[in-house]
Amino acid sequence: MTITVSPDAIGALANPCWLLAYSNSMPVDTGDSIPHFDTEHAASREAARYQSDRLGTPAPQPLPSPCFLVRARCGYFLDEEGACQMHHETADQAAQAAKDYGWVLLADGTYRCDEDCDECQP
Ligand SMILES: [Zn+2]
Ligand SMILES: [Zn+2]
Repeated sequence: MTITVSPDAIGALANPCWLLAYSNSMPVDTGDSIPHFDTEHAASREAARYQSDRLGTPAPQPLPSPCFLVRARCGYFLDEEGACQMHHETADQAAQAAKDYGWVLLADGTYRCDEDCDECQP
């Protein structure tokens, strides 16, 4: 049986995110993740924090397309507990990430984040 994922479970953001990139086009990477920003303004506000002696100050750069996020029935985004919401380039990557984190796709096309989550029970 194939379950169609609900647009509430995996959805694209309204607009492409921005990231910060150095002049060699390498994006700013905190080691854990590549930070995404909602707007060019938000990205440029953070630029000074990532100044590098070798590469200078990174500049805001828009992504080519809006990111996809995964949300459980309870409204919890993957992976909020891990300090940030994970962004994915494609819906397929988002679905794969949900699987990797042990989220279960329910028959109605929504995700259950955890067996023990009361609000995620169908
Ligand atoms: Zn993003
Ligand atoms: Zn839940």
